[in-house]
Amino acid sequence: MKTYNDNDLCWCGLNKLYKDCHKDFDLKLEEKRKMGYLIPPRRMIKNSLQIEGIRKAGIINNGMLDYIEKNLRPRMTTEEIDRLCVKYLKENDAESADFHYQGYPKHICTSKNEVVCHGVPSDYVILNEGDIINVDATLVYKGYYADASRMYSIGNISKNASKLIRVTKECLDKAIEAIVPYETTLNDLGKIIEGHAKRNGFSVVHEYCGHGVGLSMHEDPLVLHYPIKDKTYLIVPGMVFTIEPMINEGERFIELDYKDHWTVYTKDRKLSAQWEHTIVVHEDSVEILSK
Ligand SMILES: [Zn+2]
Repeated sequence: MKTYNDNDLCWCGLNKLYKDCHKDFDLKLEEKRKMGYLIPPRRMIKNSLQIEGIRKAGIINNGMLDYIEKNLRPRMTTEEIDRLCVKYLKENDAESADFHYQGYPKHICTSKNEVVCHGVPSDYVILNEGDIINVDATLVYKGYYADASRMYSIGNISKNASKLIRVTKECLDKAIEAIVPYETTLNDLGKIIEGHAKRNGFSVVHEYCGHGVGLSMHEDPLVLHYPIKDKTYLIVPGMVFTIEPMINEGERFIELDYKDHWTVYTKDRKLSAQWEHTIVVHEDSVEILSK
């Protein structure tokens, strides 16, 4: 890693002198590195201007998910939810990051019941009383990206569906609450999420994970929702990433739709739920930017 002198401009791009900007941060990380932690590279650290940009994108993303909540009703199609988003995005001067991403045909993902993720909005998918659905939205506003997803219930849902939604949200909340900047590693989050899911009789999908976000839709690091043996990054100020556990009612295994190549189902066709927030880590706190 390049070293900086006190009066050099800081590597973070803020146009401040190194000694007044990230010098103390670098010294602290060097100490942590000596203690054996895996230190995130500088490209994973955002400066305060970038964070402010992502925060604004997050406010619009939250507004869009609220707007969906207000307008959801039984007999609605997922295509209609997509159209609501197109309207909201236009009114707020933002764009869908999903649209045309690797050929994706719609503006959000709508994953109902046994769909784990990447459900494609369609005139043929109708929401009925008792359904649960995840809407996942990533938008771009003035070059900054925010990403979040929520679960919605249509009318009265089964006890188990409601438990699945609650436990999945708890997995996410507990992971965020556990973050102590300069102390927690990404692996700690995986342990918490998998532990809570398993204690409640559910399983964690392994094939999809959280990720860095902000200057583009998918950035490093990967944020796994289960622990691994390898060393994972220490969580430090300036990191912006999503946590987005997908929790299954039955087995963790999944299956890709062989026709649309997007929709991911649970292999056993039992329910799946997901919640996702974009967070930023500060010196001694964590802020949720999009939820
Ligand atoms: Zn700096």
